[in-house]
Amino acid sequence: MIKSLRGMNDILNEEDSKRFTHFIETATQIASRYGFHYIKTPLLEETALFKRSVGESSDIVGKEMYQFIDKGENDVCLRPEGTAGVVRAFIQNKLDRAGGTQRFFYHGAMFRYERPQKGRLREFHQFGVESFGVESVYEDAQMIMMVADILRELGVGFRLQLNSLGCKECMPPYRDNLVAFIESVEDEICEDCQRRKSTNPIRVLDCKNEKCQSLYENAPKLLNSLCQSCDEDFEKLKKILNANSIRYEIDTNLVRGLDYYSKTAFEFVSDNIGSQSAIAGGGRYDRLVEFLDGRPTPAVGFAMGIERLLELIEMPQNSREGYFLGAMDDEAVDLIISLTQAKRKTDKASCDYRARNLKNHLKAADKMNARYCCVIGSNELENQAIWVKDLENKSEETLSIKDF
Ligand SMILES: [Zn+2]
Ligand SMILES: [Zn+2]
Repeated sequence: MIKSLRGMNDILNEEDSKRFTHFIETATQIASRYGFHYIKTPLLEETALFKRSVGESSDIVGKEMYQFIDKGENDVCLRPEGTAGVVRAFIQNKLDRAGGTQRFFYHGAMFRYERPQKGRLREFHQFGVESFGVESVYEDAQMIMMVADILRELGVGFRLQLNSLGCKECMPPYRDNLVAFIESVEDEICEDCQRRKSTNPIRVLDCKNEKCQSLYENAPKLLNSLCQSCDEDFEKLKKILNANSIRYEIDTNLVRGLDYYSKTAFEFVSDNIGSQSAIAGGGRYDRLVEFLDGRPTPAVGFAMGIERLLELIEMPQNSREGYFLGAMDDEAVDLIISLTQAKRKTDKASCDYRARNLKNHLKAADKMNARYCCVIGSNELENQAIWVKDLENKSEETLSIKDF
């Protein structure tokens, strides 16, 4: 028997499938309300795109990519995340030269060759948005409010963590200070951090090692070294969030460690899914477009992991919906089919192709969660009528086919 690959799941049972669809519909609807439109980019891209955007020193590119040479000798890769492809499309279609604002949302499968553990899949799904061309911190606030709206609409509780990553003016001097601090505790930190000191010093701050974390409590804080522009933006962001009743916590260890990230960084976490607690993350990446050979364009976005959210979603009350139609006589089956087709123009409707007794039809209607069970037997057929039972308030009546 051929099985699916490790870490790659089917979504097929009705409950999971409903949750997945409900998430996509809710997120899509809210992103549209904010003025974003759907962008589809390919699952497969040139490997170089991810090496340059996600960064060769990252675990994603270093260890986790589904990378291969295709039949045309191209070095290609299944996308490990969504932003790189959107930025590539933005530049390739010369939108960086068009001026103005471009706002996109996407959803789809991402691939990372990770060790499959609880909650970690090799094929997983993300929903994300990217906004290009707006430098104002109001746009950052809009992003955060959009995530909050989506999570609230889905009934998912969250905590919002906030940080500023500075800019190309204030980040480099801070990095030098941090490296000096790391050197002062070099003998006590973990091996990963010792390596990060030279490859990507900012990343030491989100080291999961407890000893490291307690040492870094005394490390210099970037929030204390922000330049005036970064500082004003961060203050402004907090003010907007306060004014819109969005609660947040400052987390100075929330870092990205890639040069093109700047200013606002945020993460939504849930306390209900254990250690894998991040459910959405995002921030500003004003230099990525330039980094990928486009015209300098300010940008901000976020992505949310769909699988992690599914179990947290509160599903709307499962009320009965639509029609189930059945014949009790072979002669009536054709009429049942055409009535079902007619109902489908406006409602959910399903039917049985076989003539069966009333009890069977009622059972089937109940199983499908239909509101109305509609049956035609030989009597009804003779009178051009249909018997209709409302399964919610248990009333029943016989209608003429025409009225039905
Ligand atoms: Zn700055
Ligand atoms: Zn460490």
